[in-house]
Amino acid sequence: SGQDDFRGLCEAVGVAKMYYDVFLGGQDRYRNLKNGKLQVVGNEQQGKLVLFDNGHKTGLSKSYTYYYDKLDYVHAYIEFEEGIKEEDLDTDLLDALADFVYTITSRRNMRLMLDFSEVTDAQTGIPNMIFVIRKYSRLTARIPADNYVVLRINIKNFRFINETAGAHAGDEAISKYAAKLLGFIEEDEGVCRMGGDNFCMFVKKDNLDSMLSKLESVSLTDFSSAPGVAFDVAAWVGVSGANASSEMPFGARLEEASLGCELAKTRLKKNVVFFDHHLSELGAEGRETVGAFRPAVANHEFQPFFQAKVDMRTGLLVGFEALCRWIRGGQLIFPDKFIPVLEKEGLIPELDMAILNETCIAVKKWLEMGLRPPRISVNFSKKNLFIPEIEEKILKTVIDNGLEPSHIEIEITETSKESDYERLIDFVNKLKDMGFHISVDDFGTGYSSISLIHNIDADVIKIDKCFVDKLPGDKKSTVLIESVVSIVDRLNMSTIAEGVETKEQGEALLALGCHLAQGYYYSKPVNFEAATALIENPPFEPIG
Ligand code: C2E
Ligand code: CA
Ligand code: CA
Repeated sequence: SGQDDFRGLCEAVGVAKMYYDVFLGGQDRYRNLKNGKLQVVGNEQQGKLVLFDNGHKTGLSKSYTYYYDKLDYVHAYIEFEEGIKEEDLDTDLLDALADFVYTITSRRNMRLMLDFSEVTDAQTGIPNMIFVIRKYSRLTARIPADNYVVLRINIKNFRFINETAGAHAGDEAISKYAAKLLGFIEEDEGVCRMGGDNFCMFVKKDNLDSMLSKLESVSLTDFSSAPGVAFDVAAWVGVSGANASSEMPFGARLEEASLGCELAKTRLKKNVVFFDHHLSELGAEGRETVGAFRPAVANHEFQPFFQAKVDMRTGLLVGFEALCRWIRGGQLIFPDKFIPVLEKEGLIPELDMAILNETCIAVKKWLEMGLRPPRISVNFSKKNLFIPEIEEKILKTVIDNGLEPSHIEIEITETSKESDYERLIDFVNKLKDMGFHISVDDFGTGYSSISLIHNIDADVIKIDKCFVDKLPGDKKSTVLIESVVSIVDRLNMSTIAEGVETKEQGEALLALGCHLAQGYYYSKPVNFEAATALIENPPFEPIG
């Protein structure tokens, strides 16, 4: 190319023919420079000038490197016809040629740069969707589309990076992750950033397994905004085309992969989900859940089941936890089937309020039956923290049902976000002032810290099932439980262990000073009638 550009020069210097090629490196790999400018890596961007005399190319060449507006650089190669030696040419002429190459290639370069930005994600410098779609169609014009699988990738717990290391590190993490993904693919594969912490990729089927194992843990280090910080990042991955052959256009395949990724994260809680038609049904179910939600609440289809909390020393029933079930057309649906969808749709606060209301109705009934129900805890998702006047709404629900706040305990999980943390403390204090009991759910998981116990005026810390599972015997769990118990005791709070399934676990907990337990060892969550029986005739025995 570029022969026309050089025609005048050829005549002026008496050379038969010159041309140059400017091309983006054959690997289509782009990445931000440290200074945030665009650069092509892989092959460098080069301008190649070839001088012809009698139509024969020679091996003799000279290369010049020019800095191009500090944006990028251009290599200008000048090759000489066989028989012509460098010293045969006058250096002034050579320099003039090189200048000329520079001007022409710069112009060409600028145009490429514009094309480049059209197909590049501005933040990370890796390709964008337009690029990947083009590349996919280019490749699948000659390779069967069936050879490829399409992946949708979402960084797990990305918020955690933002929250612990700051938003700058978050931005950097995205760029670093993007660069890693780019490094994982081969030349005839593609990856792009879709936005946020979402990426999509197409890879050859043969490479799928190794790609999935690379995605299990990607280590991000050397943050300039947060020195010393490092993260091993895992991902939720949806895969389209791994099982069935697929000739569908890229967009349709990406949709399949995206549904897989979404369900991986929400309903299925699996790192990798391979699309199949069963998943479409799940997706449709999700949409159905959202549509059916409000009528179902009005219809009292969401009901609390009650799980006993027991003092292991005495066998006394000391409380219940209200756990939500959806009773739909006579079928019992468990929360893992609908909570993730509702969570995503922002409907969880409505569910929590509905369960509080149904719980109050149940307590009221027990009181009217002349029974003395124990205090009942109701789960409140952190999403409630940002509902205006949520504390007043909770109080009103309880009072409207003719109950006192002391009948109810509010279970809330820990929080990782600093901004939420203030709000969480405020929420807890307000509810405490109103007379509610507070428990901190799932303690020890997520981003919990012992300092939370000091800062939050809770009544109960619920030790997560994952620690109880490893009892007796596990050193880490033992130490954690022991230290939580000792701090909590000093602060006049109590601990309860969740998910106690065996007598041995109960004994281990007692030995560690945790006396309260909830779990299948005593009772599964049961409906109103069965819970009534537990209140009337608690069947539990002391351990030990
Ligand atoms: P969670 O609050 O940690 O509730 C404890 C879960 O562990 C319950 O599952 C319970 O049935 C189960 N469980 C209790 N003891 C044992 C045991 O010994 N072994 C085993 N394997 N499991 C045990 P469930 O009822 O399916 O609830 C799951 C999660 O759904 C709850 O975890 C909670 O996060 C959420 N959830 C349930 N109801 C509500 C609600 O009304 N509002 C909100 N926001 N979340 C709810
Ligand atoms: Ca709970
Ligand atoms: Ca829990």
